[in-house]
Amino acid sequence: MKTLYCAIGYVCNERCQFCPCSKDSVTVPSLTYDQVCMTVRQSIEEKGVENILLSGGEPTIHPDFFKILDYIKRFDVNISLLTNALRLADDTFAEKMFSIIDGSKLDVTVAFHSHIPEKHDFLTQHKGSFNRSMKGISNMLKHNVKLSIKNNIVNYTYKDLPEYIKWATSQFEDNVTLLFCNIDINGTAASNKENVAVDFRDSIPYLEQALDIVIEQRKLGHKRNVKVLTTPLCLIDPYYWGFIETSTQENVAAYKVPNSELLWDIGSDSGPLFEACTNCELNKYCPGTWRSFKNNFDESILKSIVCE
Ligand code: SF4
Repeated sequence: MKTLYCAIGYVCNERCQFCPCSKDSVTVPSLTYDQVCMTVRQSIEEKGVENILLSGGEPTIHPDFFKILDYIKRFDVNISLLTNALRLADDTFAEKMFSIIDGSKLDVTVAFHSHIPEKHDFLTQHKGSFNRSMKGISNMLKHNVKLSIKNNIVNYTYKDLPEYIKWATSQFEDNVTLLFCNIDINGTAASNKENVAVDFRDSIPYLEQALDIVIEQRKLGHKRNVKVLTTPLCLIDPYYWGFIETSTQENVAAYKVPNSELLWDIGSDSGPLFEACTNCELNKYCPGTWRSFKNNFDESILKSIVCE
C-alpha cells in the first residue's frame, strides 16, 4: 500500500533512550494543521497514496490531532498511527478520538519495551509509562483498532526476549501482531549506546529462542502474526526466515517531516546497504538493517549468500 509518512511534530511525552531523533528536535516547530492537510491532499492526488501514517515525536499530543484525524477521514484512505498510547489512557481523550474515527479502520503500532514495568519505564524515562500505555492499549482494543506491539531490541533488555514473548502472547489476543525491530543508532540513541546498542551476534540467539516459543504456540493452533524487522538474513538461521519482514521503506511514496518540503520517493535509511550485500543473491529479498549499523558495529559479520 502506498504510504505517506508524516511526522506531524517532534514533541514527545516520553524521552526514550533509543529514540533516533536528536534531543534538539523538540525545538523544531510542529507542522501546522494547514500544512498537514495540504500534505495529505497532495499525496493522495499526486501520488495515489492509500495509507496516511501519522508519526512524531508523539502524534497524539499535537494540538490539532483531532482536527487532523477529522480531515483525513474524509478521504478513502487507511490511517496508521505510531503512538506510545499514553494519551489514550485518558478515557475522555480516547472517547473523543473514537467519536471521530472508527477504530476498526485504524492501524496502530505501540512500542512496548519490556514486560517488566520498571525496565520499560527506564527506557522511556517516564515513570508510570508502562501502566499508562497498557491502559491506552486497553482503551484502543475496546474500539477494535488493528494493533501491533513493537519491541525494540536493545542492550538493556535483549536477554529478556523469550520471557517478553511469553508475556506478550499471554497478554494480547492472537489478532495483535508482535513486531521485533533493531534500532537506528542515531540522535538520542547514539548518546545512550551502553543501554541500547547491541551486537546482532549477542541478540540473535535470544531472538531465536523467542521465535521458538511462537513456533511452539503455532503448533498448538495459535495464529498470531509475528514479524522481525531490520534484521539481515545472513545473521539469522534460515529456519526463522519466515518471520523476517522483507519490505523496508519501499512503500513510502511520500515523506513529510517538520521543517522540510514534502518529498516523493525518498531513499531509505535501512536496507541491504553494505559491502557484502553487493554480490549477495538475497539482496532483493533481504531487509538488511539500518545504515547506522556500519558506524557502530563490525560490518564484516555480514556475509554474502551465493548459491553454488
Ligand atoms: S549480505 Fe546483505 S543482502 Fe545478503 S543476507 Fe546479508 S545483509 Fe542481506
